[in-house]
Amino acid sequence: MKKFDPASNIQDVLQFGEFGDVNPSITDSATYTFLEARSMTDTFHGETEGCFLYSRHWNPSNKYLSDALAMMEGTESAWVTASGMGAITAAILQLVSAGDHIVSSITTYGGTFAFLKNYLPKFNIEVTFVDITNLDEVKKAMRPNTKIIYTETMTNPMLQISDIPALAKIANDGNAKLLVDNTFTPMIVSPAQLGAHIVLYSMTKFINGKNDCVAGAICASHDFINSLSDVNSGTAMLLGPVLDPLRSSSILKNLHTLHLRMKQHSSNAMYLAIKFKEIGLKYFYPGMPEFKGHETFVKMMNPEFGFGGMIAIDMETAERASALMERMQNKKVGYLAVSLGYFKTLFSNSGKSTSSEIPEETQREMGLSEGLVRFSVGLDNDIERTFERIHECLIELNYTK
Ligand SMILES: *Cc1c(COP(=O)(O)O)cnc(C)c1O
Repeated sequence: MKKFDPASNIQDVLQFGEFGDVNPSITDSATYTFLEARSMTDTFHGETEGCFLYSRHWNPSNKYLSDALAMMEGTESAWVTASGMGAITAAILQLVSAGDHIVSSITTYGGTFAFLKNYLPKFNIEVTFVDITNLDEVKKAMRPNTKIIYTETMTNPMLQISDIPALAKIANDGNAKLLVDNTFTPMIVSPAQLGAHIVLYSMTKFINGKNDCVAGAICASHDFINSLSDVNSGTAMLLGPVLDPLRSSSILKNLHTLHLRMKQHSSNAMYLAIKFKEIGLKYFYPGMPEFKGHETFVKMMNPEFGFGGMIAIDMETAERASALMERMQNKKVGYLAVSLGYFKTLFSNSGKSTSSEIPEETQREMGLSEGLVRFSVGLDNDIERTFERIHECLIELNYTK
């Protein structure tokens, strides 16, 4: 069998502007004219091909980006949104009604966790949180009214790995859909190829990679994407989290360098993981054989892109984590900032930032240390120099052997 290659799939996408422009034209319009009144009616009913009605529904620039993303994931279709949360909430709300049930990983992005835990109960939608790496626990949590199993390929912030084929089987057996947020591992893992029904992205992170906007994506079947944009009942159409076409055209250009960036993020993070091990730090990196989800990850990955740019270390106390981060910023290792997938290294203390929506007690249950420092490793040309700087900071704190 020929291996799945998301990067080559994107390269085969041919998209031109009106005058043969190598980058597709940007649609700078909210509405579209029709030569015949009849075609407008047909477009309203979703019965025309290639006609655009109104930019909240669809617009050509977003279609170009969506088509390229669908090629990357090997899904029939895709839709792009104004943020990752826009993608996640639209996809979930499209699938559940009052009285339904969701099984979700307890370790998810903080915003997702807050939506599932605090927001959905308003609509009488119940969520059971599980350790997603414990498949028996997932099976036991399933109910006749379970519509969704929700997880992240690599969960934030401890980088646990979801066994996507096994979770897809549980979802199929229970007539539920498996939704996978693949924000941390674009190209590296192709969830739809492993059985996930819907793949979600915050494109704010690696896919765009420039930290100049927020954006999201939903990759799925034609039927699902059409249901999202249905004028009468589509969550995306009715709640309106549409991406601005100027942004989608700039993200599309960045998508074409994603494969190179992922390889560099991965090789830099792998270098740091080996060094962190050498100096005796407690670290989390899925590329290391002793990492708990390593085998599962190896089974699922498109190997040429490496194990990703996310790595975490445990400094044990929040005070020591803060001291390290401030020193690293002063030594130009990167920025003390939330978010990830940027060309510069970013680091933050997860418990006090991106996971702070998760109550401290739950954080402890998850095994999330208050001293956890999560790194999104940048595209540094000289990662040895970066490590030396981190090492100097650790020595100043007397926290290395
Ligand atoms: C950032 C992030 C989100 C939310 O995306 P936004 O673009 O900020 O709305 C969702 N999931 C994961 C894993 C993220 O890192």
